[in-house]
Amino acid sequence: MSGILDGRKVAAEIHAEVAAGVRELIEGGGRAPGLSVIRVGDDPASEVYVASKTRSAEEAGFTGGSIVLPASTSAGELVARVHELNRAAEVDGILLQLPLPEGLPERDILLAIDPDKDVDGLHPLNAGRLWSDLEGFVPCTPGGILELLRRYEVPLKGARAVIVGRSQLVGKPLAALLLREHSTVTVCHSRTRDLAAVCREADILVGAVGRPALLGPDHVRAGAVVVDVGINRVHDRAEVERLFPGDEQRMATFERRGAVLVGDVDYTRVAPSASLITPVPGGVGPLTVAMLLANTLTSARRRQGRS
Ligand code: NDP
Repeated sequence: MSGILDGRKVAAEIHAEVAAGVRELIEGGGRAPGLSVIRVGDDPASEVYVASKTRSAEEAGFTGGSIVLPASTSAGELVARVHELNRAAEVDGILLQLPLPEGLPERDILLAIDPDKDVDGLHPLNAGRLWSDLEGFVPCTPGGILELLRRYEVPLKGARAVIVGRSQLVGKPLAALLLREHSTVTVCHSRTRDLAAVCREADILVGAVGRPALLGPDHVRAGAVVVDVGINRVHDRAEVERLFPGDEQRMATFERRGAVLVGDVDYTRVAPSASLITPVPGGVGPLTVAMLLANTLTSARRRQGRS
């Protein structure tokens, strides 16, 4: 029988710790952390994510907010805005909400962010620092996963970790973090042969793919810890009924919204044999915002010589 890795609970703990850190910083004569989130265009999912990030930042006592630019913004204009934020003394963290509208070169814009304000950890310098065991910013989602595993005291040293997905955002940085914790790490991707057999070797299995319920009972060894990063919207009623038989709450959500969120793991069929598992929603998702706040507080402390 499995237990839940409760991302909402751990995220709430981190939010409270960050808010306490902000109070301490101010009481010590410092300045509140400043976070600027740039959103370009009107992608509805990005709108929701940015609103949640700025609301959480405000609740923690941060200054800043979101900068919303039209989809017609040129690469030059966007880089100029980033440079302005790089120069602004009160800004400790800059986050560029991805994806950018078509035509804007993501990589070039990310490169323009001052690596010491890159609280999303996506600048190549921070990726290099991570793989070189140097201090830098760790991307928020993998950072959050590590925090979740730590707080549930999941043994990492010597554990076999299998990560499915090798993105810059999740899979690769998580591999670096787990290696640092002395796990034995395997990273799988779309060309991996016999994915299920590789996954079955895992003490800790992480799905970061973006394919609803790709990882089923064949992929999971009994007693494994399962972390599901995937956020997929399933709009097909028959598929929702197949994935969540008898789950009235989930069906009610489907009736209301015309879709439900499904992870990369077939939760219904995997949960009974996992020792611990993250639900979707309520697993990894909330930790991403929490770690963004934690990274920004770290930046504010460093930039004020109080780390
Ligand atoms: P990417 O699309 O960048 O990467 C997906 C990875 O999965 C790639 O490495 C790809 O392999 C691999 N892959 C695709 N199909 C298969 C397959 N059939 N078998 C094995 N591997 C496969 O995705 P992201 O890492 O950005 O995101 C992954 C998921 O996590 C998405 O659902 C996203 O929404 C979610 N996410 C959730 C976050 C949160 O806060 N909870 C934050 C970030 C992402 P290849 O490299 O060979 O193409």
